[in-house]
Amino acid sequence: MMAYTPPPSLVPGALLGASLNGGIPEGDPATAWDRRRASYKLVSPANRKRFTIAVVGTGLSGGGVAAALGELGYDVHVFTFHDSPRRAHSGAAQGGINATRGATVDGDSLSRFVTDTVKGGDFRAREAEVFRLGEESARVIDHFNAIGAPFAREYGGTLATRSFGGVQVSRTYYTRGQTGQQLQLATHQALLRQAQRGTVKLHTRCEMLDLIIEDGQARGVIVRNLATGEIYAQPAHAVVICSGGYGTVYNLSTLAVGCNATASWRAHRLGAYLANPSMVQFHPTALPVMNPYQSKTILMSESLRNDARIWAPLLEGDARMPGEIPEDQRDYFLERKYPAFGNLSPRDISSRACLEQIAGGHGVGPLKNAVYLDLTAAVAKQGASAITAKYANLFEMYRKSVGEEPLEVPMRIAPSAHFTMGGLWADFDLMTSIPGLFVGGEAGFSYHGANRLGANSLLSAAVDGWFTLPLSVPNYLAAHLGDSRPALSDPCVADAVARVAGRLDALQSVGGKRTPGAFHHRLGELMYEHCGLGRTADSLLDGINKVHELRDEFWDEVCVPGGGDHFNVALEKAGRVADFLELAELMCVDALDRDESCGAHFRLEHESAGEAVRDDEGWQFVSAWETDSDGRGGLRFTRHAEPLEYTAVPIVKRNYK
Ligand SMILES: Cc1cc2nc3c(=O)[nH]c(=O)nc-3n(C[C@H](O)[C@H](O)[C@H](O)COP(=O)(O)OP(=O)(O)OC[C@H]3O[C@@H](n4cnc5c(N)ncnc54)[C@H](O)[C@@H]3O)c2cc1C
Repeated sequence: MMAYTPPPSLVPGALLGASLNGGIPEGDPATAWDRRRASYKLVSPANRKRFTIAVVGTGLSGGGVAAALGELGYDVHVFTFHDSPRRAHSGAAQGGINATRGATVDGDSLSRFVTDTVKGGDFRAREAEVFRLGEESARVIDHFNAIGAPFAREYGGTLATRSFGGVQVSRTYYTRGQTGQQLQLATHQALLRQAQRGTVKLHTRCEMLDLIIEDGQARGVIVRNLATGEIYAQPAHAVVICSGGYGTVYNLSTLAVGCNATASWRAHRLGAYLANPSMVQFHPTALPVMNPYQSKTILMSESLRNDARIWAPLLEGDARMPGEIPEDQRDYFLERKYPAFGNLSPRDISSRACLEQIAGGHGVGPLKNAVYLDLTAAVAKQGASAITAKYANLFEMYRKSVGEEPLEVPMRIAPSAHFTMGGLWADFDLMTSIPGLFVGGEAGFSYHGANRLGANSLLSAAVDGWFTLPLSVPNYLAAHLGDSRPALSDPCVADAVARVAGRLDALQSVGGKRTPGAFHHRLGELMYEHCGLGRTADSLLDGINKVHELRDEFWDEVCVPGGGDHFNVALEKAGRVADFLELAELMCVDALDRDESCGAHFRLEHESAGEAVRDDEGWQFVSAWETDSDGRGGLRFTRHAEPLEYTAVPIVKRNYK
């Protein structure tokens, strides 16, 4: 481990904590996962049913780990706030899932995957974990192929691939523009099979609101049945949180409206560190915001950039229709600025380039807040049916949302909050800083560093869910054979239930006049303004104060009508917004603290010719935060740090030119 002295924090009142060890096996990162996996302790088949595991989430990660542990014979309880497990947000994923299977003879390899991913993440990812991702990726595709995911195929029957941003090979497997939907359906079926066998108990419409902790270890969850209002405890020997990303803290994001941070945040407030919370990806190809009342933004998959060209009018304020603007008056700015990767430049870089055009007066559309994503040349060359075969459902979404024909008129796109690289800190075994509490999928961190490459998230969720947690959770349990779960009457359970009941009461007793949604709306505006695509120390300091003020207003003025003992969406929303209001402050704190630019974390003070300037000497580490009360009604933050080492991928300045 390299010697490391943490830099001081620019955040008033922030404390410096410990140096963390991620538990990555010493030596060659390429073999770290093989060695670790081989050393895991096992639980014999006869003993597995003696262990109860609570899994929060039924997306690709949660559904995968629950089905796999059920298949192995454990007693699994899986929770989702949705009415069906299949409605997890993984189903919204569009463009594809990466794998280093080398299906196309284009020079792809495991080492290229690792280099692309580590470089794409601007050297803030764990190298050994990226190797795990690449190594398991081939198995992920074979696995999903076997359990019924209908991947696109070439004429000869082999699986088809396409390209995604930040790479120069074709390693993305897909099913039109609905890859996540198909992978989610396959996962859902595997989960239902276990439910049918009786190894997995499904708790639908149940929201995890707290964690049971006994002797410092995670021992179950407290949930609220959203249909009946019942609050109940599920004691367990281990808990796995796979609750997805928190991009909805921005209110307008590409995520579903219901996505939230509550499971992670409640675990965080009980001691699970949160890593790199400010590392948020803004996706360049969302549809622009058209009115202040919309509840989300809509994504047009990055895969479209295989065929589409992104451009803006050269002339400032050009009001002509796109078809009236001649070629020599168009700026294909990604191709111009990044000729080596062109329209498939990584998302952080592409988003900033789009914003630069819009801010520079070259925006298009009624609100001048978009640039063009133009398929017309590809349609002319390949024909409408060939293009439709690749992206049909995306076009359907565009037609329904915008009312225009994307095969004839260039689509309008703009950056929007999308994926959260930050998440609960965990070691190489995906165990958080609370023993017995594990994390998987987008709720975690580590693979993607400061910027995720497209099609790597379905992969990381699937690797966590199907290939890592089903081994690492039993490794933890093996040392707990004979331990009983806490009884419902134990103080650790009663305390956790009381915390939930107290919080729900507090929300309902404010008696104000503003809806939880109004606070969320305002919070989103603040986050885009202060912790958005470009950040400065002054603006972040201002953002911290404003978020704090908004939180105070929330607890003075929020209105939560109806009671808690039945279906009450206002109460659900209020709890989630209350958590967002704390998380948002930590995101601004992390962004202010990290005094460098890296990937999607773009501090305007640290740039050169528009590109991010990293400070490896100062900041080559993961910030893992602890949050507690400052005793004066506010929050106090402590930054722990896990140094990062790169031995396989040479550290370079990112360059896509
Ligand atoms: C529009 C869109 C398109 C995308 N396209 C791609 C793509 O093409 N390729 C790619 O690699 N990635 C893509 N992504 C990212 C990818 O889809 C996600 O990162 C990934 O699916 C997350 O999976 P997950 O299992 O971590 O979480 P999710 O699928 O979000 O599942 C979260 C689960 O947790 C449950 N949950 C949450 N909180 C609680 C709680 N408190 N109590 C109980 N249950 C709870 C939910 O009900 C749900 O079941 C896309 C994302 C979006 C938004």
